[in-house]
Amino acid sequence: MSNAASSPLPLRPRIHVLATGGTIAGAHTGGAPGSYRSATLSIETLVGAVPQIAEMADLALEQVAQVGSQDMDDALWLELARRAGAALAPPGVAGLVITHGTDTMEETAYFLSLAVKTTKPMVLVGAMRPANAISADGPMNLYNAIAVACDPGATSQGALVVANDEIHHARAVSKTNTTQVGTFHSINQGLAGLVNQGRVHWFGPAGTQHTLASEFSADARSTLPRVEIVFAHAGMDRTLIDAAVAAGAEGIVIAGVGSGNLHALARTAAAEAAAKGICIVRASRTGGGMVERSVEVDDDRFGFVAAGDLNPQKARVLLKLALTRTHSPALIQEMFDRY
Ligand code: ASP
Repeated sequence: MSNAASSPLPLRPRIHVLATGGTIAGAHTGGAPGSYRSATLSIETLVGAVPQIAEMADLALEQVAQVGSQDMDDALWLELARRAGAALAPPGVAGLVITHGTDTMEETAYFLSLAVKTTKPMVLVGAMRPANAISADGPMNLYNAIAVACDPGATSQGALVVANDEIHHARAVSKTNTTQVGTFHSINQGLAGLVNQGRVHWFGPAGTQHTLASEFSADARSTLPRVEIVFAHAGMDRTLIDAAVAAGAEGIVIAGVGSGNLHALARTAAAEAAAKGICIVRASRTGGGMVERSVEVDDDRFGFVAAGDLNPQKARVLLKLALTRTHSPALIQEMFDRY
């Protein structure tokens, strides 16, 4: 036995891992090509498949849920935010990694970035291919996520998403492809950094307020306000906006055409909803660029909020949290500019 093999490991950062399921914990179980069941393998199994992680960090593993992220909901977000806060509180814990499905990772990451009070690294990681697929991407993504969580440069960045050798800020990242391992893009703002075989390189801090500078909290909450997303299209009418109002929505995000536009019939329904105190946020279905106030739609006249560069699903996350504080469109507009 060599000296190197028998000498004790140097002191490694302590990283807490919260596991929630997703394809990173998925397995092909036979049947149609490419078919698999997500959220089947335990976090112990996933970490055990990458022995190199033990040389880098001292891990504490906690299975919070075992779901495909299409089944994420408000209750799980609130629970995850509380567990994240508790896991990061002890002074000996250097950072947090959360394994998560890729489908709604961008929403969970943004929620945690706004609701968890910490300066410590908080890194979400997933995979596009199940654990037993040819060229599974999960093991390297997990290794890189732990490396990022150990890196001092991840401090005070809010939540981060690591996949395909890239590091993304929670607010900027979006899933853009159904199957490719390079699915995540930070469309308007660019990457937070790169991570290659555990080597971390930083490009810039998050540009907006989060974590300790956020006014939102998951503590003492068991629910969040109901917010619906209505997808705009040619020939749209008022049906789905009226349905959202009838369902009890406190807020509606319009995934608008172009820079957050919507058909006149739908705009009339949205203006009527706004007059009843339901917060209407205009985002864009295009996937990139800004929705500015009062360009083709007179937001001041109708009492609407413009989502800026937040995509509809991220705008929904912020609007849910905003509605825990206020229903004033003017104050919510300021939140959209700040967070
Ligand atoms: N449906 C899966 C999930 O989001 C997809 C994935 O993880 O890539 O959990």
